[in-house]
Amino acid sequence: MSQEKILVSACLVGVNCRYDCKSKTSPNIVDLLDQGLVVPVCPEQLGGLSTPREPAERVNDKVLTTSGKDVTQNFHMGAQEALKIAKLFGVSKAILKSKSPMCGKDQIYDGSYSGTLKSGHGVLTEVLLAHNIEVESCD
Ligand code: SF4
Repeated sequence: MSQEKILVSACLVGVNCRYDCKSKTSPNIVDLLDQGLVVPVCPEQLGGLSTPREPAERVNDKVLTTSGKDVTQNFHMGAQEALKIAKLFGVSKAILKSKSPMCGKDQIYDGSYSGTLKSGHGVLTEVLLAHNIEVESCD
């Protein structure tokens, strides 16, 4: 039987899907990729957001860009699409990029666009945890 796959943030395996059109490659996650063990997704792109794009942060129950554009619906849609992919591959674990308003776990940027952190999860992390998918954070 093939080994179970892990959902990962696509920016961790070198995909230039971040708001600034860059990646945050993690050698450990690339090792897992080389073993055929990961399913990379970028939920912000799956939610219809372009790359590059304005950075966004969680502000109360919304997700707003630095200029105040409300991208909450894009974030919810992208998280649901990523969940769909997780289910298609039968994953029970995800390794996601830290601090992101979509992929962060336990700590995310606080909505002041100043690099300050607060307690909380990104939108995708919340959705995966609610569906009993384990989430690990990766810097
Ligand atoms: Fe990376 Fe997640 Fe942000 Fe996409 S949404 S760029 S995968 S941290």
